[in-house]
Amino acid sequence: MTSGLPQLSPQLCQQLLAAARESHPREACGLLTCGADRELAWVQVQNRAMEDLEFEMAAEDIVRALGGAEWIGTWHSHPHGDWHPSPADESAAFEESLCLILGLGVERPSIGLWRRRDGVFELLERKDLPQARATDA
Ligand SMILES: [Zn+2]
Repeated sequence: MTSGLPQLSPQLCQQLLAAARESHPREACGLLTCGADRELAWVQVQNRAMEDLEFEMAAEDIVRALGGAEWIGTWHSHPHGDWHPSPADESAAFEESLCLILGLGVERPSIGLWRRRDGVFELLERKDLPQARATDA
């Protein structure tokens, strides 16, 4: 790794956005992984939370989704919120792990890529997403 910081490629953002919209109005969630090429990648994991605006992943789902890839963090959507971590997100995150949040409930949907270090969330990158309605229904 050169910089050590994963980059949010436009393609990755598009894919996550599509997955998040598909789960709407529930939160979508999954894992961030690092492949052999050191590229940031993602997998979706079933959200087993009872509430729409929470996410919960089962251990067996996580193990299956990872399939041997290196786990480096989690991602989830905020259907009615922005790209900042909620207090629950902050307390649930593991030290040194990445936390990617898609905020869809604001005028300009955005992705925030955070890392928890020494108990504090630091923002690594923020990307604006394309507007929700490309076509009129
Ligand atoms: Zn959250």
